Amino acid sequence: MASAPASTPKTVTLIPGDGIGPECIESARRIVDATGVNIVWEVRDAGEKVFKQGIPSGVPPETIESIRKTRCVLKGPLSTPVGYGEKSANVTLRKLFETFANIRPVREMPGVPTPYSGRGIDLVVVRENVEDLYAGIEHMQTPGVAQCLKLISRKGCEKVVRLAFELARAEGRRSVACATKSNIMKLTEGMLKRTFEEIAREYPDIQAWHIIVDNCAHQLVKKPEQFDVIVTTNMNGDILSDLTSALVGGLGFAPSANIGTEVAIFEAVHGSAPKYAGKNVINPTAVIGSAVLMLRHLGEFEAAQKIENALLVTWEEGQCKTGDVVGYDSGKACSTTQFTEAVIANLGRTPRSVQPRTYRPLRLPQLPPDPVTVRPQSRRFIGADIFIESGDLPAVIGPALEALAASSPLKLKMISNRGTQVYPDKGTLIDCVDHYRCRFVLREGTAELSDAQLLDLLQRIAQKYRWMHVEKLQEFDGQPGYTKAQGED
Ligand code: NAP
Repeated sequence: MASAPASTPKTVTLIPGDGIGPECIESARRIVDATGVNIVWEVRDAGEKVFKQGIPSGVPPETIESIRKTRCVLKGPLSTPVGYGEKSANVTLRKLFETFANIRPVREMPGVPTPYSGRGIDLVVVRENVEDLYAGIEHMQTPGVAQCLKLISRKGCEKVVRLAFELARAEGRRSVACATKSNIMKLTEGMLKRTFEEIAREYPDIQAWHIIVDNCAHQLVKKPEQFDVIVTTNMNGDILSDLTSALVGGLGFAPSANIGTEVAIFEAVHGSAPKYAGKNVINPTAVIGSAVLMLRHLGEFEAAQKIENALLVTWEEGQCKTGDVVGYDSGKACSTTQFTEAVIANLGRTPRSVQPRTYRPLRLPQLPPDPVTVRPQSRRFIGADIFIESGDLPAVIGPALEALAASSPLKLKMISNRGTQVYPDKGTLIDCVDHYRCRFVLREGTAELSDAQLLDLLQRIAQKYRWMHVEKLQEFDGQPGYTKAQGED
């Protein structure tokens, strides 16, 4: 019998990774190859081995070169050195190739008992993947006060929100929830909420709703089946998606896709679980699921469905279950290799208890490469927050700054300590630290501030206080581009 013509070969960069990574990746690779799909694997390093060679990014040039060429990566987990210096090689890879969204689907697995079994959990967390606190911009502002900048852009929000709606359409899903902390962080988290509400109007076929992220965590534990797609910021998504993986049996079951306009990186949500490394005991389902997402991304829908079905059949029939589900010491656990062989043996079969979903190609959002996405009609420079380091009490600092600014067009409006007004005194009980934000605004009668006037004030303040940070206060189209301190009028 003549065999079917082979599809055009597609090259994928394969990063085995650290700890349990090589075992999981080997399992996924064997299963993908067993479908007959024409994938050429280009094996490259990243992570621990590379850090040890003295490359602080953990990602060597040969790996970057390969990804630039293949545009598609299947990777095992990479261990992150703890401490100062080296950055996470995972975060580096996501950021170097601007994989702006992280898609994390979870679905009830037949034959994997959890407190939620039978409730039909089938949801996707779409996490913004390069911004937020993960921009990694941190500074010690005083020897005892650290700062991490939470950067959220309109462009980043628009890309991830559009992707979430497109994903809902591609997978025939009915709703997208946007989870934010916009009630507290009105400008940053609020940016995602506002962008979501605006873009939702372009998707009238999808139900769009907003939920405060802490309630989202609560609702996910209480009634997870109410969710379909959840779009959220980077940090929120990191936490929520670990929670959702626990709903369906744990990290061993949670695949993910890092999606960019140019490059996509597929990996399990879990890490390198060093205590299981080399023991051939871990559950490779999450990495196999990530390979399924990869095949769909490459347009290999048939091979993807074949693997997904075989995985479902393997768990449904339950002849071969890994130690995370049945207990490593139970005497009933299958090894990683036995599990892989069971999935390969089940290729071509369909599960009894799970209705397969129909997947259509995912349309990626195409935004112009222009870095400027919002152009206001007007802007006004009306003041500055000057951050100083001081061990003095607010009642001492306030009058001293007022005297220093006496002949400046700027006047001291208030001083806050970690966001709460401490001068003028409001009768509150604040346990101050040596990090004060001093808000200066234009005196009446001055239309706009100049940089020279701000620098003049800064020089005067420097005569008495050590300043470490300055933020301009601006209005865009008449709206303040800053928030008030707690207690500020
Ligand atoms: P982890 O590696 O995800 O492991 C946490 C626990 O999850 C394990 O001890 C194990 O639970 C369970 N687990 C994870 N994967 C499993 C699998 N395939 N099968 C069965 N059980 C699995 O998290 P971690 O210990 O916090 O992190 C270890 C290293 O991985 C760190 O260096 C971290 O930075 C890195 N990391 C990398 C990535 C990535 O590459 N994307 C992601 C997260 C963490 P039990 O102990 O209960 O059996």
